[in-house]
Amino acid sequence: MSTRRFAALERSLNRKPIEIDYPEGQISTFFGSNVFGYDAMKAFLSDEAFNSVRDAMEKGTSIERKMADQVASGMKAWAISKGVTHYTHWFQPLTGTTAEKHDGFFDPIENGRVVEKFDGGQLVQQEPDASSFPSGGIRNTFEARGYTAWDPTSPAFIWGKTLCIPTIFVSYTGEALDFKTPLLKSIHALDKAATNVCQYFDKNVTKVFTTLGWEQEYFLIDAALFNVRFDLQQTGRTLFGASPAKGQQLEDHYWGSIPDRAAAFMHDFEHECHLLGIPVKTRHNEVAPAQFECAPVFEEVSVAVDHNQLLMDVMEKVALRHNLRVLLHEKPYAGVNGSGKHNNWSMATNTGKNLLSPGKTPKTNLMFLTFFVNTIRAVYEHADLMRASIASANNDHRLGANEAPPAIMSVFLGEQLTKVLDEIEKNVHGGKLSPEEKTNIKLDIGKIPDILKDNTDRNRTSPFAFTGNKFEFRAVGSSANCAGPMTVMNAIVAEQLNKFQAEVNALLDKKVEKDVAILQVLKKYIVESKWIRFEGNGYGEEWKKEAKRRGLNNIPTTPQALEAYVSKKTFQLFENLNILNHREQEARYDIALETYTKKIQIEGRIMADVVANQIIPAAIRYQHTLVENVNGMKNILGTDYKAAANLQLQMIKEISEHIAVIKTSADKMTEERKKANNLDSPKKQAIAYCEKVKPYFDEIRYHSDKLEAMIDDEVWPLPKYREMLFLK
Ligand code: ADP
Ligand code: MG
Repeated sequence: MSTRRFAALERSLNRKPIEIDYPEGQISTFFGSNVFGYDAMKAFLSDEAFNSVRDAMEKGTSIERKMADQVASGMKAWAISKGVTHYTHWFQPLTGTTAEKHDGFFDPIENGRVVEKFDGGQLVQQEPDASSFPSGGIRNTFEARGYTAWDPTSPAFIWGKTLCIPTIFVSYTGEALDFKTPLLKSIHALDKAATNVCQYFDKNVTKVFTTLGWEQEYFLIDAALFNVRFDLQQTGRTLFGASPAKGQQLEDHYWGSIPDRAAAFMHDFEHECHLLGIPVKTRHNEVAPAQFECAPVFEEVSVAVDHNQLLMDVMEKVALRHNLRVLLHEKPYAGVNGSGKHNNWSMATNTGKNLLSPGKTPKTNLMFLTFFVNTIRAVYEHADLMRASIASANNDHRLGANEAPPAIMSVFLGEQLTKVLDEIEKNVHGGKLSPEEKTNIKLDIGKIPDILKDNTDRNRTSPFAFTGNKFEFRAVGSSANCAGPMTVMNAIVAEQLNKFQAEVNALLDKKVEKDVAILQVLKKYIVESKWIRFEGNGYGEEWKKEAKRRGLNNIPTTPQALEAYVSKKTFQLFENLNILNHREQEARYDIALETYTKKIQIEGRIMADVVANQIIPAAIRYQHTLVENVNGMKNILGTDYKAAANLQLQMIKEISEHIAVIKTSADKMTEERKKANNLDSPKKQAIAYCEKVKPYFDEIRYHSDKLEAMIDDEVWPLPKYREMLFLK
């Protein structure tokens, strides 16, 4: 009897309903109350200290040590007024999660007494012993010190009884060891480049921000069932499990009525988010059973990245209160949709203009078109790097699997904007424009309706789609840190805008009229980047063929995709913009490869464990029942038993066959793992894990799932898809 599974099922069915304290009052009355934002700063800081933090946040100026002492003191007073006892530098190492080490506020004084203490030094910098974070060889273990440094652009917040201070994490020699450092540098690079280009249109623009609005998809599963699925527990996904009769084929879950249990969870975690100032606003059921999505109002990208990292943490913690587990893995279940995290990206000026929002006049539309076309040109130039920025072992299951954007990068514009670009291509020529041509073009551009936002046709199969006032990078995985792809977006567009400015200026030097010069360069980009534009079905086989004809890459696996991290083009991009130097970029490449290898390695080990300890024993147990049954028949029927026991005999044989394949495949996989482990570079190892180890997973799973389908339900040890995928 498979006691573990049944005990878990029973626990899941008999659990007590969760009482949650719904907060009193409207969200606006408590939103952000656990954040050291402008209101709290005004209340707890001197004007001088407040202004210095505000300038750091808005203008990127640095904060003097004396001022940092004042800020620390105000922050401490605010935190203590809310019952906080500890503080931590909160950072985003390259493990993909967040890191924190809590320290008490208190400091010993004489006679065994303590006082609460927290000064500018502790606020500004810490030196965690960081030897266990991935560094890609940057930090030798004998020089293990890395340090965290306060990032005043992202506000401090309280979680539990701890004051969390967002920081960057760098090596002792100054190299970036985290996601935030290059992100902040890319924000700066894009600000500079975009502000310069804005000067052609509007002298009042002095700063350009990047904006990000993410959409987080996730699954929920009952915690009791999760706890007896070792594959889910350790790898985040089910390595086994036959498809249930009813999955998502009826499409009855998407945007359906939210199950009560999930709704209670959502209410609870959203409340925590609101206290933390995370503006989550939208929630709905997703396509697969037990799959959901939440999305906030967009924010400045660095804050949005922090908020998403924080959200994932909050969700996991709040889920436990509800006897639920949240699955952020890109593909927890085979046969139903996986989860992504669309990254809606745009640029906004200090004058309040969204640079990717078409305007009302030809002049403002030329400004829009400038940023629009430059973004497309940048994506064309660095499509492979974008692909690399979303590559992970998890996301490989999703990309190109007819449910998510393909592994081919392309841009979707929609019919109207395609027409506008075609018109520019047709009408703008090398020479001077006649007054008539000018009027025509201005008319065309002027026609881009400002209602575009509401009626842009949607194409859900494109990895990078324009959706009216922003680009939506859809290929990002659900568990990813948005900072990776966002750093790349900012960098490639910054580089492109710098090129654009140089080309336009060269024409201006030749006395070409400004609008004409801009249009000429845009036309050139439109022509050059044509192949990246695709309006059709990105899931179709046709597109794969067409993309090949166009010379666009279709890179199905992570080890191959990551090659773009170490191309000459990428090194130059990041170095020229002062975002990552050669060594830092190389280190990131190695870390990404190592992470890939480790993930597949863990999956391989779990797979071998589960078949040896759970699946094969269950199969043998059931087979033994059949053998006894056949023996019994033999006793009663004598030599005639064979006809009567025909079915049982066949099943006994079939079970043996499945077991044999599973066992030999698992053994061969273990052999391949050993060989891969002995290879001498992260790249060779990752490729071996991808090409030699991973293929056995499908083989082993296929036969295990066959066993699940034929074996007595009472004996099967693992919770089944139909039990896990539907919240009760
Ligand atoms: P969907 O893509 O599901 O149709 P919406 O288009 O309404 O949903 O918006 C999805 C996300 O886009 C939200 O997170 C929202 O905050 C974000 N978004 C909207 N405008 C911008 C912008 N200017 N910059 C960045 N993100 C934005
Ligand atoms: Mg979307």
